[in-house]
Amino acid sequence: MKREHVIKPVLDHHYPTIQYGKGVYLYDEQGKAYIDGCSGAVTAGLGHGVQEIIDAMMEQANKVSFVYRSQFTSEPAEQLAEKLSDLAPGNDYWTFFVNSGSEATETAMKIAIQHWQEKGRPGKNKVISRRMSYHGITLGALSMSGHVLRRRRFIPLLEDFPVVMPPYCYRCPLGKTVGNCQVACADDLATAIKRIGAEHIAAFIAEPIIGAAGGAIVPPEGYYKKIKAICEQYDILFIADEVMTGIARTGAMFGMQHDEVEPDLMALGKGMSAGYTPMAATLVKDHVMEPILKGTKSIMSGHTYSANPQSAAISLAVLTYIDKHQLVSAAANKGRYLLNALHLLADGIKIIGDVRGKGLLLAIEFVADRTNKQPFAPGLGVTSRIIENAFQKGLLVYPAAGAIDGEGDAIIIAPPLIISEEEMNQLVRILAESIREVM
Ligand code: PLP
Repeated sequence: MKREHVIKPVLDHHYPTIQYGKGVYLYDEQGKAYIDGCSGAVTAGLGHGVQEIIDAMMEQANKVSFVYRSQFTSEPAEQLAEKLSDLAPGNDYWTFFVNSGSEATETAMKIAIQHWQEKGRPGKNKVISRRMSYHGITLGALSMSGHVLRRRRFIPLLEDFPVVMPPYCYRCPLGKTVGNCQVACADDLATAIKRIGAEHIAAFIAEPIIGAAGGAIVPPEGYYKKIKAICEQYDILFIADEVMTGIARTGAMFGMQHDEVEPDLMALGKGMSAGYTPMAATLVKDHVMEPILKGTKSIMSGHTYSANPQSAAISLAVLTYIDKHQLVSAAANKGRYLLNALHLLADGIKIIGDVRGKGLLLAIEFVADRTNKQPFAPGLGVTSRIIENAFQKGLLVYPAAGAIDGEGDAIIIAPPLIISEEEMNQLVRILAESIREVM
């Protein structure tokens, strides 16, 4: 066999070679079709091979692809930052462009810390987070991430920032029942702040809907209003990690809009360029920038490719496409249809413990026993077997295993927002077969 050179996630696994993509389908070198039931990594929100995006890409490449951020700005970068601010809650955000979600959350952390330094409060330098969370793989982002499996190997290098309990209603950490809980889990933020000391905390970061660390976990109603109020009470900035939820995915442009909360900072990535180029951003409210503008007037961060005009033009084209094809409301409507279909599926499959999510960010959690929510033993690899079965049958779904202290089984279903009803039916049919085969 020919020797390989690309380091892939699992080194003894065979990865088919994809030749091209069209709509919700990817096609490998054997001509086999895969329904992209998770938009890759909840990224390819417009589907594959969209001509308008390819045209915008070519048009910008014909002008200029790269200028360096400390020498020039560009029209696409300026227009994109303005458009993001127009779309975001409150319409008063600056944008710091980066290239991945990890860089976006880590930049948010740095800006939050700098904000307090410029205000003469340098002791406020921790960014606390929840115990079930994923904010990225670089060391700063991983420090904030409560994802046991991904942290484990690097613990000596990490800050212990994930200290707040998750709003995980299916397995309420306080043993309460939905609708009758007064959103008590949010009070754990206040408890953590009092224990650590507000004078040491710059910000609290959270995903509007928990993604990879548990699978589309939607907090109870009123949760984020309470979280924001606690942050304000203790002079702590609130960072919304919208890397997975942002840009129409959940049936709102930003996940936090469901809760009518305006975060002080937001991290974006994934759907922002819909997989057509690496692109991400940290959005920062005027009031967070104010002391920096009055003070050192510079943010000590940045990457070579930050704000490159090529990626900015692609992202702009993505936002235009979303608007033109009304994909925010499409995500909400199609999400309702798919969620309903998954609930119907759950009726007949006893290892489905929970079906949840919002818009087209949905998940299924699997259990050994539905009556007592007993998880499968970790060694059984239920999530990976279901994902592999689906893959063999031509369906892609995304793992969200490890929800319960690094264990537990869940998958994310998050197809491109342009998926049709017939394609959703096909997705559910293949998924049902894939799950039944592990029972
Ligand atoms: N934040 C969230 C909520 C994510 O889901 C992810 C990736 O899955 C990241 C941050 C990290 O993004 P990236 O993989 O682009 O670095």
